[in-house]
Amino acid sequence: MIIPLHAKLTDAELRELEEIISEFGVRIQPIHGHERSIYAILGDETSQDLINRIEGLAFVERVDRIQAPYKLMARESKLSGHRVKVGTKTLPGDFCVIAGHCTIDPKQKAMFLETAFAVKEAGADMIRGGVWKPRTSPHSFQGDAKSLDILVEARERTGLQINTEVMDFDQLKLCVDAKVDCLQIGARSALNYRLLQQVGEMTKNSSTRVLLKRSMHMGPVSEFILAAEYIVAQGNPNVMLCPRGTVPTIEGFRNSPDESITLLLKERTWAPVVVDPSHSVGKAVYVPNACLAAAAYGADGILVETHCQPKKGTGDDPKQAITPDVLAQIIKDTREIHKFAARYQPKDAAKAAAK
Ligand code: PEP
Ligand code: MN
Repeated sequence: MIIPLHAKLTDAELRELEEIISEFGVRIQPIHGHERSIYAILGDETSQDLINRIEGLAFVERVDRIQAPYKLMARESKLSGHRVKVGTKTLPGDFCVIAGHCTIDPKQKAMFLETAFAVKEAGADMIRGGVWKPRTSPHSFQGDAKSLDILVEARERTGLQINTEVMDFDQLKLCVDAKVDCLQIGARSALNYRLLQQVGEMTKNSSTRVLLKRSMHMGPVSEFILAAEYIVAQGNPNVMLCPRGTVPTIEGFRNSPDESITLLLKERTWAPVVVDPSHSVGKAVYVPNACLAAAAYGADGILVETHCQPKKGTGDDPKQAITPDVLAQIIKDTREIHKFAARYQPKDAAKAAAK
């Protein structure tokens, strides 16, 4: 819908607009009101180039889109009804828990394996552990490829599937070769569109899942959904959207908690939402309530940094990892809340989950 700057377009302005519009195979329908006229775009208005060209006209105030800019991620797409499996859980529908260290320190293999068994015992569905770490300072521990073997060993020994973050093509290739079950795209890489495409290309037609974090710098919800569209467009629909807090931060929390956007995501897309409360609130003592909140907003799961001895951990673990006994209680409580939350989901989302 095109809203002109003035009450009505002149004939010359309308002609200029129609010239642009015809290049994109759409038409325009003026709607004349008492005071003002607006101009409906008839046809596919999802092209960003089309919108940019119209918004660039001096006599146009703005363009309000009725169609979502994403095609495959939309509720109306042919992928609506697609399900993603995490261990034995099927999303949406079930509630899944992904838990483990922020960072796998290759010098502390035994500790990671201990955590892996403990999160399994607590009821987690998938083990997480950072092999390569996106650290703010180049002087901090950057991770170590050797940790990938430890993660794979944890899968062999516990029987649980595994999740780890990839930040570039080389890491992606190593993880695909190691058959990592779930690739995590972190908050810093969520805006790296080439990486998103490579992940989609490398995992197309496979059962590999992709957990896409929301960048801390993303604004509109559509920006997040479009990032997932990059992966899905290359042939892998097994994406999970992961809100993990944004900037500006709330004093006392690491980021601004954003689990509430689960409602908006579920209204607009079919993809499961797995919330990361650990990086959002950033302090172990706040994590349990944030997990319950995520379940209350209708999330399909949580990703929780968990460590058998947080004080001895690396990266985020000493400050924000919870212990496996706390995780066990959270898992029981969130599964209950998840059942109640389903009653209050936006209408379309609840219908789709029931399919
Ligand atoms: C992580 O999961 O350890 C991590 C680095 O997350 P994020 O990308 O959300 O900061
Ligand atoms: Mn972390």
